[in-house]
Amino acid sequence: MIIAIDGPSGSGKSSVSRAVARALGIGFLDTGAMYRALTWWCLDRGIDLADRDAVVAAASAMPLRQGSNPAHPTVLMDDVDISEAIRTTEVTTAVTAVATNPRVRPVLQRRQRNAMAAIARETGGVVAEGRDITTVVAPDADVRVLLTASEEARLRRRSTELHGQADAGSVAATRDQIVKRDAADSTMSQFTVAADGVTTVDTSDLDFDGSVAAVLAVVRRTAAAAP
Ligand code: C5P
Repeated sequence: MIIAIDGPSGSGKSSVSRAVARALGIGFLDTGAMYRALTWWCLDRGIDLADRDAVVAAASAMPLRQGSNPAHPTVLMDDVDISEAIRTTEVTTAVTAVATNPRVRPVLQRRQRNAMAAIARETGGVVAEGRDITTVVAPDADVRVLLTASEEARLRRRSTELHGQADAGSVAATRDQIVKRDAADSTMSQFTVAADGVTTVDTSDLDFDGSVAAVLAVVRRTAAAAP
């Protein structure tokens, strides 16, 4: 079973997708990690992110390997584990320049389709999450979900994740990063409104377990309706 999940930052996409993959016993692909890994690779190699041709070449050439175990998804470049390094503020701030390079996207989208097919062959299915999986990378996926949450809920969650709390100061510090990044990402992909055939799951009033259960319910409904 191929499951595509899109959504903005702080919607809970990544953790919910991993839990759904675990519950179904299939593999997991974090496509945002690919954009982050490319950003890390360019920064590490001293490739200027404004040099669009060089970044496109790096997108094909980087020796990226992603582990698909949803309990412990890893991101390796050559044999160096960069799972943590791609989550730094430096990478998070710089990733927009890479993701809005229009010629980078088809290169990474092709890598994503290949990775999804390989994971599905290995584990019997895949949950792939990102911003354009339901619309561009895998529009023919068996299940397509847009995971949303109100801006308030998303800021509260991200603030707690980054600063350990969601008081006014921490939320304000998080707002800048999230709102700006979503605005830039929206210029490349449509992930605020569900495309035709995509089911919206709003997690604003759901806790983590409730969000996972809501997505699994969509999966079950789709499986039951399948010929
Ligand atoms: O999901 P995450 O926040 O890790 O994604 C990092 C960045 O990668 C996003 O802000 C976006 O710029 C880019 N991205 C994308 N398309 C995807 C997944 C992520 O453009 N399918």
